Amino acid sequence: MIIGILGGGQLGYMLALAGYPLGLHFRFLDPSPEAPVGRIAARVTVPFDDRKALEKFASGLELVTYEFENVPVESARFLEKFVPVLPTPVALEAAQDRLVEKQLFQKLGIATTEFVAPKVGEELDPLVKKLGYPVIIKTRRLGYDGKGQWILRNADGLALAKEELPKVPLILERFVPFTRELSILAARSRSGEIAIYPLVENYHREGILRLSLAPAHGVSEATQRTAEEAARSILEELKYVGVLAIELFEHDGQLVANEMAPRVHNSGHWTIEGAVTSQFENHLRAVTGLPLGSTEAIGCSAMINLIGELPNTRGVLQVANVHLHLYGKAARPGRKLGHVTVHAANPEGLAARIAELPASFRRPEFCLPEQTRTRVATPPANAVEL
Ligand code: AMP
Repeated sequence: MIIGILGGGQLGYMLALAGYPLGLHFRFLDPSPEAPVGRIAARVTVPFDDRKALEKFASGLELVTYEFENVPVESARFLEKFVPVLPTPVALEAAQDRLVEKQLFQKLGIATTEFVAPKVGEELDPLVKKLGYPVIIKTRRLGYDGKGQWILRNADGLALAKEELPKVPLILERFVPFTRELSILAARSRSGEIAIYPLVENYHREGILRLSLAPAHGVSEATQRTAEEAARSILEELKYVGVLAIELFEHDGQLVANEMAPRVHNSGHWTIEGAVTSQFENHLRAVTGLPLGSTEAIGCSAMINLIGELPNTRGVLQVANVHLHLYGKAARPGRKLGHVTVHAANPEGLAARIAELPASFRRPEFCLPEQTRTRVATPPANAVEL
C-alpha cells in the first residue's frame, strides 16, 4: 500500500519511519529539492499547484494525507478526484484561516480569545477600543511561529501599525495573559474511533517551540476532560480523519483555544518513545482505517527541539533513556534540525536526566524546566512590538 504525503519535512520523515513497520510505503510531494524525506522515500519535487504533476503523483496511491497545512485547498480538492484525501480538504480549509478557526471554536462552545476581523482597509480604532490594549494583530492566513503578528500596547502602537500592516485580511485578538501554553493531540479513524493523548506543556522562544513536557505538570482531571471534549467536538464536527493538534492557553485555571493544526504536531514528538503508540503511527492507523493504538503516556518525557545547530551526539547519547532524532537538514539559524527526547518514570527522574545532558543544553534557548517554572505570558519574539 502506497500512501501519498503532501509536504516532505521532518513530520513526513517521521510518518514514514512509523509506517514502514506496518508495511506501508510512501511517495512525497514537496516543492523543495532539500525536503529531507528524499533520503528515505520517493519524492516528487514540484509546486503544490502543478495539476499535471498532482494527477501523476496520485496514480497508484491508496490515499493522500499531508504533513504541512498550507497546501493549497484547491490542490487537495483536485487530488480528491483521483484518490481519498484525509483529513478532508474541509479540515484543511478551516485550519488555514484564523477567523474560520476561531468561529468554529465559538460554534462548538470552545472558549477562545476575544477577536474581531476587520474588512481590508477598515478603520481599526473602534475595534481596538472594543478589545482593549494590549491587542495582537495577526494575518488571517500563512502566519506561523509568531510571524505575521504585531502587538499593540497603546494608541502610539496603533498609529505605527496603521502604517506598517499589510493590506491582507487580518484578525485582532485580545492578549491572553496566560500562565502557560498547552496542547492536546487527538486522532479519529475512518471508522469514527477517537483516541486522545494527555495534555502537553509547551515553551516557546523567538516564536519557536523549544520544549514540550508530557504529560503536562499538575493537570486536573477536569482540565484534561475539557480539552478532550474540545478535541472530540472538532473531530466530529469536521468528520476529521487523522491526528489533529489544538494549541491552548491556560489562564486563570481555564483553557482558551488559540489555534489548531490538521496534522501531526511538534508537541507530539515525545509520543515516539513516551507513549504506547506514537502520534505518527496513530495518524497512519487512522487514515488507513486500522484500529487506533493506546495514547497512554509511559512515565514522563521532555522533548527538546534542536534549533539552528546540533549538539555533540556522544554527549547526548551517554545519558540513559535519551533518544536523538536528526532530520538530515542543513544547519541554518532558526531551523528545526532534530529533537531529543528524555524519558523517565517520574518528574524527579526526568529532571535528573536532563541535568546530565551536555552543558550546551543549559543555554536559555532550550527553556529547560528550571526556567520554565518562573515563566509567565510573553509575546512571541517574532511579533513586532508597536
Ligand atoms: P500563534 O501563531 O497563534 O500560535 O501565536 C504564536 C504565539 O504567540 C503563541 O504560542 C503565544 O505564545 C503567542 N500568542 C498568540 N496569540 C496570543 C494571544 N491572543 N494572547 C497572548 N499570547 C498570544
